[in-house]
Amino acid sequence: MQKLIGIDLGGTTTKFAFLDMDGNILSQWRIPTDVSDEGSHIVPNISKSIVDRMAKEDFTVEDFAGIGMGTPPGSVDNDAGEVNEAFNLNWRTIQPVREQIQQELGLPFVIENDANSAALGEFWKGAGSEADNVVFVTLGTGVGGGVIADGHLIHGVNGGGGEIGHITVKPNGFLCTCGKRGCLERYASATGGVVNVALDMANQFHGNSQLKDQIDNGQSISSKTVFFLADHGDILANQVVNEVCKYLGLALSHVGNTLNPENIIIGGGVSNAGNTLLQLTTKYFQDNAFPAVRDSTKIKLAQLGNDAGVIGAASLALQFKNSMNV
Ligand code: ZN
Repeated sequence: MQKLIGIDLGGTTTKFAFLDMDGNILSQWRIPTDVSDEGSHIVPNISKSIVDRMAKEDFTVEDFAGIGMGTPPGSVDNDAGEVNEAFNLNWRTIQPVREQIQQELGLPFVIENDANSAALGEFWKGAGSEADNVVFVTLGTGVGGGVIADGHLIHGVNGGGGEIGHITVKPNGFLCTCGKRGCLERYASATGGVVNVALDMANQFHGNSQLKDQIDNGQSISSKTVFFLADHGDILANQVVNEVCKYLGLALSHVGNTLNPENIIIGGGVSNAGNTLLQLTTKYFQDNAFPAVRDSTKIKLAQLGNDAGVIGAASLALQFKNSMNV
């Protein structure tokens, strides 16, 4: 039986996995991402690492059906297999990733942005429960999104489909890196969102709060600190968490009202806050969801953690193989 290769390319680490055709991970490994020299070593290092690993495990290229890869934010041209302007890889010009990897390995290669790739992973093997309509939102450095409607990943006319992080939740709110104001990302990502909201609310807070003391003393705080203190009864921290979940629940209600998916799955580092985040977000989602949506769309936490990327990437390779066989 043939196998799949999934790659999750990140700004600091590149993760790899060999998987069977059912999406089970057979083995996995990682290498540091070398972004020096305008990122020119990244793709050759990926090819070399796969070749070395195949030799180590006594596999040949014929044992594999294809390769899928998730890549950090930038502009991904799925049809051409190219990536442009992925700044945390130091890629400022168009990179013909598919051409380079296919030249080295001779295997079919499919590329997708990392949020879409993680969405496919959860859709296939995680919290998506094999439903045909699933939305994935990842709360990390930024807020990413992936929309699977009737079993298909949505790209939109210019690749902007599923950009849940840039749904406006507060008109004239905080300025976002995308240039507009009030994006969800400025309220629900880790540092740029949760910490940003905490610093802002601490300014106007008068009362007893460990979070307020830490901020006033110039200690650096993280989204993890905020959720931890909220769970331990800190008043300001709870107000911050409430604000974050209010905007997240509101954004997800818009997504729900538009798509009525079976599941909206929350992943990424901030989702480690678990039930505190899930319950409050679900409350605000339900407050703002249309009744038919409220009764059927469920908010869930992601299940695959860091493996979502490689599993979703492998599913891209599988989909490609299946589309060639039709
Ligand atoms: Zn934005």
